[in-house]
Amino acid sequence: MNNLKAIFFALLFVCAGINFSVVNYAYGASEKSLPHTESEDKSEHGAWYSDSRGIMGTNIHTEIWAQSPQLGRAAVEAVMQEMQRINQLMSPYIDSSELSKLNRLAAHSEVPVSSELFELLQLSVGLSEETQGAFDITFASVGYLYDYRQKQRPDSQTIQSLLDAINYRHLQLNPNSQSVAFTHPKVKIDLGGIAKGHAVDNALSILKNMGIEHALVTAGGDTGLLGDRNGRPWKVGIRDPRNHQKQAVVLPLENTAMSTSGDYERYFEEDGKRYHHILSPKSGESSYEVQSVTIIGPRSTLNDGLSTAVFVLGVKKGINLINRTRGYEAIILDNQRRLHYSRSFEAVNVQN
Ligand code: ADP
Ligand code: MG
Repeated sequence: MNNLKAIFFALLFVCAGINFSVVNYAYGASEKSLPHTESEDKSEHGAWYSDSRGIMGTNIHTEIWAQSPQLGRAAVEAVMQEMQRINQLMSPYIDSSELSKLNRLAAHSEVPVSSELFELLQLSVGLSEETQGAFDITFASVGYLYDYRQKQRPDSQTIQSLLDAINYRHLQLNPNSQSVAFTHPKVKIDLGGIAKGHAVDNALSILKNMGIEHALVTAGGDTGLLGDRNGRPWKVGIRDPRNHQKQAVVLPLENTAMSTSGDYERYFEEDGKRYHHILSPKSGESSYEVQSVTIIGPRSTLNDGLSTAVFVLGVKKGINLINRTRGYEAIILDNQRRLHYSRSFEAVNVQN
């Protein structure tokens, strides 16, 4: 627990340094893509600027209130550019990304990385320690063999032969040289469980620095909110995992962030079994206790990592973890489609 506290304090410190006020936000994963729009609201001097683009293998959506068209369009562009930048840095599918470089070289030598990547790796290892390894970016040692679009998965013999490589303790992070080494030859890492949350946090701080006070930024299931929407809370939906037309829960939120992890984002079915993208690091196979996990809290990066972790931990351990984590709340939909809430969630006013 102390480690997680340390992470939060570190983050608060970082946030304070850049005058970052976090936003809770609520756009569900089912949110439709909107065309680039500009709409005037007569009640205030300014307009909403929005856009949706496919970046980082997901839908990026933003809505920004700005006083002038120049600022509004520049702000939308800044959000999209930040998403592109992080994709270039952290995508496992781009050969020149820092992450791909690590996966190629770090088992053979110490590889220096940018401070941004180094800090995200430190945060990821901290989350692994706090979640008994439920969140573990070395899941990719097996995870890279799944291709959900092509309906491909490793057989159980292959999984067994690689299972030892899934262990965050194989990551050697050297803060002095800001370099990374893998101490097991078969380790691969992937930041898919945390990079989008990080991108949302970055985008929001960029918007704040531009003087924006009302905005929503969503990357797949990760949303961050600045301020409110026309004097009312944003309404952020948690989609029904088995009916993408429906929202299971809608939350009124402002100045906060929210992430949802679900078994419906990337999956295929074979012989009635759903093979989806959130893997238990213990088994190298999909985790089945719940259908979706939503975390609401000030920092999108942590919401993202925690939603993946709680998905793997399941209802009891997951709710326990969140109840111990100040400032963070959870809504879990289990595999019987029952909803579970963290202790002080009532404050957020759930509408079913
Ligand atoms: P998304 O918003 O893409 O649905 P999630 O936050 O739900 O992302 O995380 C799912 C992604 O996290 C997977 O696609 C994979 O890249 C990564 N992942 C899967 N299992 C784990 C795990 N046990 N620990 C850390 N990351 C994981
Ligand atoms: Mg996540």
